[in-house]
Amino acid sequence: MNIALIAHDRKKDDLIQFVIAYLPIFKEHALYATGTTGKLVAEATGLDVHRFKSGPLGGDQQIGAMVAENRLDLIIFFRDPLTAQPHEPDVSALLRLSDVYKVPLATNMGTAEVLLRGLSEDHLDWRLNKNPEGGGQA
Ligand code: PGA
Repeated sequence: MNIALIAHDRKKDDLIQFVIAYLPIFKEHALYATGTTGKLVAEATGLDVHRFKSGPLGGDQQIGAMVAENRLDLIIFFRDPLTAQPHEPDVSALLRLSDVYKVPLATNMGTAEVLLRGLSEDHLDWRLNKNPEGGGQA
């Protein structure tokens, strides 16, 4: 599966801890991320992460483009609900496109845990029909 990781600044530590906690699962999949998030996750875990631009510079939109091509299977996007983001329109666009293409998306750790457990138990295998090339197609 192709998994996208995004975290707003005050949620980046949470995302890193989350990836470390589920490292055996994340290792099995292709990871994509916005620039800073990807850098920090790669440094903390040693995982290979394909990095797009930083979110405010278009990274969310680049991930959205993958969604529009049905090349992303799961999105973990730890949003900061208490801080205004300059790129809020891009964030909304990504959430909308994920709904259009029915891509599972978690915006907090509770939902992300459920999705990761579902992923590890093959409950997301229906995505293989949508994205037969899943697993590392950059
Ligand atoms: P970043 O972008 O990983 O480059 O910080 C995340 C975001 O704010 O969308």
